[in-house]
Amino acid sequence: MDIPFVDLKIQYQSNKQELDKAIQGVLDESAFILGKYVEQFERNFANYCGVKHCIGVGSGTDALHLGLRACGVAEDDEVIVPVNTFIATAEAVSHCGAVPVFVDIDEETFHVDIDKIEEKISSKTKVIIPVHLYGQPVDMDKIMNIAKRYGLKVVEDACQAHGATYNFQDSESRLKAKRAGSMGDVGCFSFYPGKNLGAYGDGGAVVTDNDEVADKVKLLRNHGEQNKYNHLIVGYCSRLHALQAAILNVKLKKLDEWNGKRRKNALSYNRLLKDLDVIIPYVSDRVESVYHLYVIRVRNRDKLREILGSKGIAAGIHYPVPLHLQPAYKHLGYNKGDFPVAEAVAEEILSLPMYPELSREQIEYVIEQIRAVVS
Ligand SMILES: *Cc1c(COP(=O)(O)O)cnc(C)c1O
Repeated sequence: MDIPFVDLKIQYQSNKQELDKAIQGVLDESAFILGKYVEQFERNFANYCGVKHCIGVGSGTDALHLGLRACGVAEDDEVIVPVNTFIATAEAVSHCGAVPVFVDIDEETFHVDIDKIEEKISSKTKVIIPVHLYGQPVDMDKIMNIAKRYGLKVVEDACQAHGATYNFQDSESRLKAKRAGSMGDVGCFSFYPGKNLGAYGDGGAVVTDNDEVADKVKLLRNHGEQNKYNHLIVGYCSRLHALQAAILNVKLKKLDEWNGKRRKNALSYNRLLKDLDVIIPYVSDRVESVYHLYVIRVRNRDKLREILGSKGIAAGIHYPVPLHLQPAYKHLGYNKGDFPVAEAVAEEILSLPMYPELSREQIEYVIEQIRAVVS
């Protein structure tokens, strides 16, 4: 059996008619930059997330970069970033001329260790970026409390968490389910093809309830242009493409169903892995995870991954090298041993194949192969 890590073809094949029609519609009108398809998607995705504004941009990295800029992050500012995340979270900070300040992760969730954030806050800190890694929202009540106490902004990296929810405590202490991306000052999404909501190329979005932030991101994504040839600020060229917006409009309608299937697959993995010597993903009872990734922790990870590969199963590692040890961030002067939890976890995490269309037989096959190695 051949089991890919994600299967984009099967999703296209089962929605081909609607997707082809959407693409043809854009080609027929030949309106590719901003315009009605982008506006339609922005409205739909804002409603879906439960926020006032959505601004389509060129990628998730750009969503983070422009979101940070709109929050006022500039040269020499500091931004709190978990050390276990995709490098784009830190790159967006660097693109502002600011410095990512890394924080170790929690042994259970693999999210930022919230108890270690405060010791990293200085007079230069402007923003905390919680990353809803693997599709599970971070404990946002705690993040927002720290941000409030120190007067910081919160930019959520929701690039792996489209549709995930967290039971957020409002000012009257009532719990209310809120979507990832809708709790901080700004939420940032990627529509990279392999994400839970994926386009057919690069794409991203910034969501926010703040009118000023929304206006600023709209200027930044389109050359600082307020109206034709009137450029208020020096901006960027980072727009969500109309073709991608049309595709995303079709796919957004299926997102909840797909996320439900991912959860069901995760439960099957959980059940079948129960008796084996592996640690299954921890999920807080305050969240509904959307399992962008299904990440187990296991000893002799590299050997297991190699054997799975020889049996046709593609497993991944997210992420093999914590950001402080990446050559790109050598200049920040961190050393091996600075973030012991992240460094230990990076040696033992393994992401199993995960996508909505994964079949019962495929899941059982994966488990059978794991069982043969880990008993
Ligand atoms: C995918 C991803 C990004 C960046 O998205 P791109 O669209 O590839 O630029 C940022 N942060 C996290 C956590 C991601 O998974």
